[in-house]
Amino acid sequence: MKPARIPGLRLLHSPGPTRVPDEVVSAMARQPMDLADPRVSVLIAACETGMKELLKTDRAEIFFYAANGHGGWEAVISNLVAPGTSILVPGTGHFSDGWAEQVEAFGGRALRTPYTEGLPIDPAALQAALREDTEHRISAVFVVHTDTASGTSSDLPALRRAIDAAAHPALFVVDVVASLGAAPFAMDELGVNVAVGASQKGLMLQPGMAFVAVDERALEAALRNPAPRFYWDWLRRRSEQSYRKFCGTPPLAHLAGLEAALDLIAAEGLDNVHARHARLARAVHAAVACWAEGGALRLFTKAPLARSVSVTAIEVSPGIDPEALRAVARERFQVAIAGGLGPLHGRVFRIGHLGDMNEAMILGCLAGVQAAMQVQNIAYGRHGVEAAIASLLAVGGR
Ligand SMILES: *Cc1c(COP(=O)(O)O)cnc(C)c1O
Repeated sequence: MKPARIPGLRLLHSPGPTRVPDEVVSAMARQPMDLADPRVSVLIAACETGMKELLKTDRAEIFFYAANGHGGWEAVISNLVAPGTSILVPGTGHFSDGWAEQVEAFGGRALRTPYTEGLPIDPAALQAALREDTEHRISAVFVVHTDTASGTSSDLPALRRAIDAAAHPALFVVDVVASLGAAPFAMDELGVNVAVGASQKGLMLQPGMAFVAVDERALEAALRNPAPRFYWDWLRRRSEQSYRKFCGTPPLAHLAGLEAALDLIAAEGLDNVHARHARLARAVHAAVACWAEGGALRLFTKAPLARSVSVTAIEVSPGIDPEALRAVARERFQVAIAGGLGPLHGRVFRIGHLGDMNEAMILGCLAGVQAAMQVQNIAYGRHGVEAAIASLLAVGGR
């Protein structure tokens, strides 16, 4: 049976897909164009320029794919990983594991640094792993900036310094799927050779488009890679012709949506966008810290500076079912929160706070979760929402 229509807003606090702003919805609802229409090239150029500004790069080339984030990963792997290639994938949890597995599926060797729950990547462990590789067999380091499963962000400048301190030539490849448009990122300044992302998180689009930004060193590495590839191939896609650039028909609706989303980010100002994310994340953290006083739940990320501005994972004590909590929050209070992924399934629930998000939505979400905790008889510190309000006021609103 088709579920009944629910009146009013339903709050989406998944860390992706995220809410799509009205401007993006209407941009994506446009009719397709004839591919020879000059407006198509203008649209693509606007998306490329806007992405370069967002990523803070003058030197990288942007490639878009009709794909999700895993497609973006596959683009990176197809171009950089031949069978036998060694890739260092520092442990961040579910998402570094997933990327490493994909490397191995292509015959690559994925070397992992140990992952400690609740902590970001240890730059010292990265440096040690690279130093040990005296023959420079590791061709790239694949770093997940924000591990969406744990809500933990790693310190990219510290990781850059670790690579430099090891004097290792490995490419620095960064997954910014969950962080771009939420947390500061500067591709050129960080010496990132490839950045990979997707449409449905901080970029505020529908799912279905991935991108990679690739610098000259990474393109040269791809040129030397003999592994067969076609759809994902950067070199094949290097063209002025839109049909070649996309290895076929461009995803016009997503490009139109991206143009609109990039305009929204530019109009708000990137620094303001980052500050808004930090402010809203602090409010969520304040609420969870207060809830934790009940003894039944706590912030999963232990290092305060590593707490993501995009998503917060909340660990529950044994005996509490986060999936049941989610169901009550969604079905009774119209607040959709996320569950635990992989090994964290049944151990955490997650509140997404990235993208097209504001104070009212955060307070509504926290109140809905609090109400659901009450229904579920979860012992929580009573004044979580008040703590969030206090946090929003303390940092001066805007
Ligand atoms: C969501 C996500 C992915 C995967 O994206 P899909 O679109 O689900 O394939 C990869 N990395 C990170 C950090 C993510 O948050």
